[in-house]
Amino acid sequence: MELLFCLLPHLLLALVSKPLLPSQGEEKVPILMYHHIRVPPAGAKRLERILTVTPDDFYNQMDALYKAGFKTISLRELFEKRWEKRFIITLDDGYKDVLTEAYPILASFGFKATIFVIINEIGKPGHLNWWDIKFLESQGWEVGSHTMSHLNLTHLSPSQQWKEIYESKRILEEKLGHPIYFISYPAGRFNEQVIQLVKEAGYLGAVTTIPGKINRIEDNYKLKRVRINGGTPLSYFKEKVLEGNNKTLKISHSPSR
Ligand SMILES: [Zn+2]
Repeated sequence: MELLFCLLPHLLLALVSKPLLPSQGEEKVPILMYHHIRVPPAGAKRLERILTVTPDDFYNQMDALYKAGFKTISLRELFEKRWEKRFIITLDDGYKDVLTEAYPILASFGFKATIFVIINEIGKPGHLNWWDIKFLESQGWEVGSHTMSHLNLTHLSPSQQWKEIYESKRILEEKLGHPIYFISYPAGRFNEQVIQLVKEAGYLGAVTTIPGKINRIEDNYKLKRVRINGGTPLSYFKEKVLEGNNKTLKISHSPSR
């Protein structure tokens, strides 16, 4: 059993990195990127407002996808087969409102999400605790690492990088009792050295803040996402997510969380 646990990431990696058919090497499954789902607190700064989608807006966005016939999949499922009308929801940073605001809305549509948690923030005020994370997993949600402390990985020494990348994975695996397959680079910052360590740590893939909706299997450590900013009008959301081009994605790089 223990051997299987050790081998599993490698077996799955082999599976993920070898498409069964050429057509399965590229998927147009939007990976949506959210942070806070809540009404922004009075006096919230611009960055916080950008990172905060209100529950009403979030509901309307999910409703639009639901009515368009979309269903959610997990990151694990991304390259498993050719998908039609599927999308992935990622929620970065592990805020408490993921449980109190996003979860009930998503559950009402039968949708699931992937959360990327920062180990050193777990259980702090305003953040998910281990029980919350286990509950969301029990509802079919996927959990990934957002490192130990959300530092810019490209600014760290190799040993610090390893700690952020590997130790966060190890702790999540120990607490949750199963392998962790995905990581979200803090503030979207990475380089080739970081990718190398992420591979060595046994992750199957990583999400970035690079804007886009089409991901190729060979770029599974540079997965593109569609950032949904606070205040995005519904018509713009539909254009960005449901329609077939990337022309509206150019604003996606500014926030750094
Ligand atoms: Zn973050």
